[in-house]
Amino acid sequence: MRILVAEDEPTVAEGLMRSLRQAGYAVDCAKDGDEADAALEANEFDLLILDIGLPKKSGLEVLKRLRSRGSKVPVLILTARDSLNDRVTGLDAGADDYLAKPFELAELAARVRALARRGMAGGLALISHGALTYDQIGRVARLNDRPIELSAREVGLLEVFLHRAGRLVSKDQLVNHLCEWGEEVSGNAIEVYVHRLRKKLEPGGVRIVTVRGLGYSLEKPETKAASA
Ligand code: CA
Repeated sequence: MRILVAEDEPTVAEGLMRSLRQAGYAVDCAKDGDEADAALEANEFDLLILDIGLPKKSGLEVLKRLRSRGSKVPVLILTARDSLNDRVTGLDAGADDYLAKPFELAELAARVRALARRGMAGGLALISHGALTYDQIGRVARLNDRPIELSAREVGLLEVFLHRAGRLVSKDQLVNHLCEWGEEVSGNAIEVYVHRLRKKLEPGGVRIVTVRGLGYSLEKPETKAASA
């Protein structure tokens, strides 16, 4: 899952990025409204954390432009503690949730998990896929009811596949959702990550198939039953 943090205060931005990266998310940062706007136009993010008080373009303007382009990406706005007006206008402009500054990073993490799962599988806390279940809140995967150990990268990969079960996922899409700007991840590295995840899912009959030259697809459990 890839998150854009639009925040001009360096200490707040750094704290946010550190804590989100620790949680296994890929995080990019924009320091003003123009940068945020350009990043949102050029890339596909899974979540936006948006400070309302941004230089160049306000967070509110960034949000309005984002929604006017038809984007449904979940947005968490950061507002000044005493500004009820910011919260109300932000939610009216299409924000999904807000946090007033200063906030605890633990609370931010909980809001991020809630918003992230809203974007996936209709917001279900638990996704079932054949023998696999995935708890979107705890970010824990189980195979035949036994927890499987996954690296942060593999969890990210699994989320992308579950979000698009039965559909083709290109290597570019995987890079886009898993990696940050300036992070060099080759197609070969992606192949290695997919290979490791596949090995861990295979014992439960959950298959990630390679679509030669195009990418990968997490096979739908129904499809497998039909062809058997
Ligand atoms: Ca600010």
